[in-house]
Amino acid sequence: MPGDTLQINTGKKTVENQHYDAIVIGSGISGGWAAKELCDRGLKTLVLERGRDVKHVKDYTTATKNAWEFPHRGQLPLKVKEENPVASRCYAFGEATEQFFLKDKDQPYIQEKPFDWIRPNQVGGKSLLWARQTQRWSRFDFEGPGRDGFAVDWPIRYEDIAPWYSHVELFAGISGNRDGLETLPDGEFLPPWTMNLGEKTIQQKIMSRFTDRDVVIGRCAHLTKPQAHHLHQGRSQCQARTLCERGCPFGAYFSSNAVTLPWAARTGNLTLRPHSVVHSIIYDDKQQKATGVRVIDAQTKETTEFYARIIFVNGSTLNTNLILLNSTSSRFPNGLGNDSGLLGKFVAFQNYRGQVTATMEGMQDSYYYGRRPTAVMMPNFRNVRKQEKDFLRGYMTFFTASRARWGHEVEGPQVGAAFKDAISEPGEWNVFMMMQGETIPKETNHVRLSTDQKDPYGIPQLVVSVGYDENDEKTTKDFFEQAQEMLTVAGCKTIAIKDTQQSPGLDIHEVGGVRMGKDPQTSLLNKWNQLHAVPNVFVTDGACMTSTGTQNPSITFMALTARAANYAADQLKKGEL
Ligand SMILES: Cc1cc2nc3c(=O)[nH]c(=O)nc-3n(C[C@H](O)[C@H](O)[C@H](O)COP(=O)(O)OP(=O)(O)OC[C@H]3O[C@@H](n4cnc5c(N)ncnc54)[C@H](O)[C@@H]3O)c2cc1C
Ligand code: SF4
Repeated sequence: MPGDTLQINTGKKTVENQHYDAIVIGSGISGGWAAKELCDRGLKTLVLERGRDVKHVKDYTTATKNAWEFPHRGQLPLKVKEENPVASRCYAFGEATEQFFLKDKDQPYIQEKPFDWIRPNQVGGKSLLWARQTQRWSRFDFEGPGRDGFAVDWPIRYEDIAPWYSHVELFAGISGNRDGLETLPDGEFLPPWTMNLGEKTIQQKIMSRFTDRDVVIGRCAHLTKPQAHHLHQGRSQCQARTLCERGCPFGAYFSSNAVTLPWAARTGNLTLRPHSVVHSIIYDDKQQKATGVRVIDAQTKETTEFYARIIFVNGSTLNTNLILLNSTSSRFPNGLGNDSGLLGKFVAFQNYRGQVTATMEGMQDSYYYGRRPTAVMMPNFRNVRKQEKDFLRGYMTFFTASRARWGHEVEGPQVGAAFKDAISEPGEWNVFMMMQGETIPKETNHVRLSTDQKDPYGIPQLVVSVGYDENDEKTTKDFFEQAQEMLTVAGCKTIAIKDTQQSPGLDIHEVGGVRMGKDPQTSLLNKWNQLHAVPNVFVTDGACMTSTGTQNPSITFMALTARAANYAADQLKKGEL
């Protein structure tokens, strides 16, 4: 596969090759896109990644293993869980995937309030681990904060980003149905996955009873029908194995490792340097711009500096905040670009607390083939066009219906062929529903640097002070009421609700701290993701987000990154940066 055989340069510590056109900090979902776009535009680009290298296919060492080939049959030993209480709370952390997670001791942080910070530790970042759900934001999401006055107005609108959604969707390969919804705009879709009978039944009953609600099949970054350019990338059709978090040997889901980084390498413009922990960004008072970055080699602990004309910060939301807060100079004593004093503030996340389960009677003669890497989605229907409820914003709802697997109780003798046949029949229909709620960015929800505690690299630890508020309680309550009502209308039984009380962070959709906005007094970044005060530094990961929306965020990070990278390349060409 092209991704395997391509030679990616590894940085050498010689003075001559320390200068680049662009530096990208982080090689995950957004950093991979920055690298691809900048390399495509002919810029010599250095990607610095704190974790180890993971080569597409070759390093997916567990991808094809069966459960019995793992020493603990896929479960993690108690010792690993005890040593990693934070990572262990992520559903994807298991014996087949633990190599893709940063271990708790490698980057300690201070939880002023409980916050599960889930981090990767390799080239590709969380793009190897993500669940690949990819919905565009709608115009209501960009208009919302300004309209309802709960955050600064976004400096862009849906029309500004729509072409860039198309750009990344076409290249990455996104499956979905063209549903024609204003609340969930259509994209450049490959064929959709399909709903099973249980889900179609719920869809039909909800949509005929509630005129304000839509139920659609999820949009996700899987090649349901690869196009010529996907085959050219060395990828092939999704086999619906849903073992994705181990790395996909077919390259069938979007990851930096399978898609953007090999593409960037092909241009000959990419230098990828794993084991490179970025300590801070260097600011030159005389030139009034950032000139490079300080890096600590994770293996030797040696410090090196690299220089470039532009810098993209894509360390993932909280690490990007940390790097900027740690980048101090006489001009910026409180962190790079932090004239407003708001760096690290207005951090938000998504509320995953609401879960509902139910059963469905009948349909015993209906089954479905194979596995499916997505769920059914209901776009937000609360406070969409105007403020209607006693809480701000709303939630997206996900659900699945599936038949219980074997292992259910069987009457009669508990041995023999008849018993085996009976237990291998699928059981009754079960429904699982969950919320993905928007939380409101607040100044009090913030991160800052510890004044006395450092990590193993001597970098100040991050203090995380992010929590739920009354608005989240009201949103969760509304979800429970609506979910129960909808499932009752759909004819479901034994409906049960559960408030998971999970800590912020475990949604793994944290955003903000370096928000975009029109006014440098109240925001850090302009409409092109440039620091207002240091225009040759671009922040295009979740840290730049002004609000969270109710959609899974990463497709928006990708589109913002591609948009900003092409703008940066244009500006460099014009001599403006
Ligand atoms: C289990 C799971 C399921 C998810 N499901 C979805 C989903 O369905 N849909 C969705 O939209 N999102 C999902 N996400 C979230 C998604 O993975 C993130 O939003 C996305 O990866 C963020 O991209 P990023 O580039 O900002 O960060 P990452 O992909 O995390 O990449 C950041 C990179 O920067 C590196 N880095 C950090 N600090 C430094 C430093 N100082 N120096 C050098 N390198 C550094 C990190 O090691 C990492 O490789 C999921 C995440 C997980 C873990
Ligand atoms: S479900 Fe598709 S993308 Fe996931 S591992 Fe299987 S083939 Fe790869």
